[in-house]
Amino acid sequence: MTVQKQGTDELLGLDKFTVDEENAHIVLDKTACAVCNDKPCLVVCPAGLYKLNDKGEILFDYAGCLECGTCRIMCHQLKQWKYPTGTFGVSFRFG
Ligand code: SF4
Repeated sequence: MTVQKQGTDELLGLDKFTVDEENAHIVLDKTACAVCNDKPCLVVCPAGLYKLNDKGEILFDYAGCLECGTCRIMCHQLKQWKYPTGTFGVSFRFG
C-alpha cells in the first residue's frame, strides 16, 4: 500500500464550494476588528480565510469557508455567523 502525503492546500482543493454571491453567511464587524488586539481569526481558521493587509485591517472572503464554526467560537464580535442557505456551501470530497 502506498501512502501519499498531501498538503493542506491540496486537500482543500478537493472540496467543492457553491458560493451564494448574494448573501454572505459570515459578516464581520469591521469596527470591532479594527480595535481587536488579539485577532484570533488569523490563526484559528483552518482554511486561512482571514488575512491582514498592509494597513493592519482584516480581509475576509467567505467563499472558501468549511463551515466548521471555529471563528464563531473564537470571535465574539462577528455581526453574523450562520450556515449557507439551501444548496450553497461546501461539499467535502476526501482524497
Ligand atoms: S467557519 Fe471555519 S472555515 Fe469558515 S471562516 Fe470560520 S473558521 Fe474559517
